[in-house]
Amino acid sequence: MPVYSHSRLSSFENCPLQYRYRYIDKIKRDVEGIEAFVGKLTHEVLQALYSDLDRARRAGAGEYKEMFRSLWRSRLTPRVKIVREEMTPEDYGALGERCVETYYNRHHPFDSGEVIGCETRVEFALDGQRRYRMLGFIDRIDRVAPGVYEVHDYKTGSLPRAGALKNDRQLTLYEIAVRERFTGVNEVRQVWHFLAHDKKFVERRTQDDLVKTRLSAIRSIQNIEATAEFPARRSALCSWCEYRDICPEWEAERQPVPRAQAQPSVPPPEPSPDMETSSGQFLLFGKSSP
Ligand code: SF4
Repeated sequence: MPVYSHSRLSSFENCPLQYRYRYIDKIKRDVEGIEAFVGKLTHEVLQALYSDLDRARRAGAGEYKEMFRSLWRSRLTPRVKIVREEMTPEDYGALGERCVETYYNRHHPFDSGEVIGCETRVEFALDGQRRYRMLGFIDRIDRVAPGVYEVHDYKTGSLPRAGALKNDRQLTLYEIAVRERFTGVNEVRQVWHFLAHDKKFVERRTQDDLVKTRLSAIRSIQNIEATAEFPARRSALCSWCEYRDICPEWEAERQPVPRAQAQPSVPPPEPSPDMETSSGQFLLFGKSSP
């Protein structure tokens, strides 16, 4: 039986065809969106910070900014793609550094709780028969008092819509995992750090919320497993999809300009932005759709 994750369920919900390419056909793509790249490096720096707190308390924010900068320089390659045309790699590098610096300054000396784990792998069941299983990696787990835990999640992107975190599935699933893993858990707080905005949000769930999230995730898995057709669902997210170059939804945009049109006997009109954006290279680099 496959093990699911929040991202896997989200992929199916956003676009069944993307789900099929990624999780059934297992088509590998050597590309990564720069937003995900910034997030990954920021997580690595904060993991390093929390894995040696004595050092982190003595160091300054500059040391961790420099760690980010060094990772950025050594790992940024052409396989990291920028979708937003108005942004440059330097903009994203500066964003990552700002996230690290802001977090450091806000939370130093990092003593709000006992760190139980960073990037902790959790595997847990949604049902008593262990038929529906989930996997996840929790950015950080803290114990802040006997029986009181926090699951922390770092975000480098934009702030959530009003009320969105009240229905967040990911950290609710992680709360279920924490309640399974540790004994004597009385309370779990779900904590999001929107690093670029220096904002922290905390939510608590009721037992009823946890049951609803379990049942909803089980229904999502059942839906996936009963699916025979995986239709494409075109949306703004296609700009970040690693399969846009093979997706039938984007076939028309990939068609080369016919030769007769490309070399006319009369002067051609000025190419429109649309014509320029229909080249394979445009799509390969995943720039914004019109
Ligand atoms: S490009 Fe869009 S429609 Fe096509 S697989 Fe990706 S997300 Fe789905």
